[in-house]
Amino acid sequence: MRIFVPDEKIGTEHITIDGGDAFHLIRSLRIRRGEEIVICDMRRREFICEAERITSDTVVARIKEIRDSENEPPYHAVAYIALSKGDRFELAIQKSVELGVAEIVPFESERTLVSAADAEKKQARRRKIAQEAAKQCGRAIIPTVRDPVLFPDVVSELKASSGLRFLCYEGDGVVPLPKLLVGQASPSVVAFAVGPEGGFSAREIDMAREAGIPLCGLGKRILRCETAPLYVLVALAYEFELMRRNLSCELL
Ligand code: SAM
Repeated sequence: MRIFVPDEKIGTEHITIDGGDAFHLIRSLRIRRGEEIVICDMRRREFICEAERITSDTVVARIKEIRDSENEPPYHAVAYIALSKGDRFELAIQKSVELGVAEIVPFESERTLVSAADAEKKQARRRKIAQEAAKQCGRAIIPTVRDPVLFPDVVSELKASSGLRFLCYEGDGVVPLPKLLVGQASPSVVAFAVGPEGGFSAREIDMAREAGIPLCGLGKRILRCETAPLYVLVALAYEFELMRRNLSCELL
């Protein structure tokens, strides 16, 4: 089982697990002394521990080994995803976490059918989805689901971003995704935006262009708003995680 703990629970030799995680370990998994637990500190480090003391509501684990996680991509991916109706947005969260996203920023734009205010009510549920997906797939961090913003905020954040940044657009005058990725040194930050079911308005595309944000094409097919971010994250993982990491291994 993989557990995420805040720094204050991590000592030099022991880590204290309490709250819901302790409850799950003790009551559901019936953990025994000596059993191994992998604990993550949300900063890409993994603590290989063994349960040493178990009370009714806490588990004190002894640290056996500390290692940098290999489960995180070498870049910090920020996905600005337009708010969508129903469980589409939640599907996008779950799958984006599995595909290595670090931050998800919901946003309202001219054609979203859900407002940022309405979306606020679903934040707790969305953060839980991100946490469960991170535990299930073995992430070393729990990706952040930020509070919803408005499209102009997306433009200013993309403009200010230090790394690779682009806005996905299915219209004309775009740069194909491979051209943005291939030949690039592995970026430390990748920030990208995907529009809603109704797409970005002409005014929003002009705003992005005026801000100097590259418009990126994902091919000729029109992808659903929950598919497009996954397409980008798969491409990033393939290019900068699988290819670069494995190629460098073979070349060693
Ligand atoms: N205009 C689309 C249509 O005709 O159905 C609606 C937008 S699409 C469902 C949702 C978003 O996914 C778009 O705003 C864009 O950000 C992204 N997207 C979908 N297909 C794409 C493609 N082929 N190239 C680049 N972005 C794409």
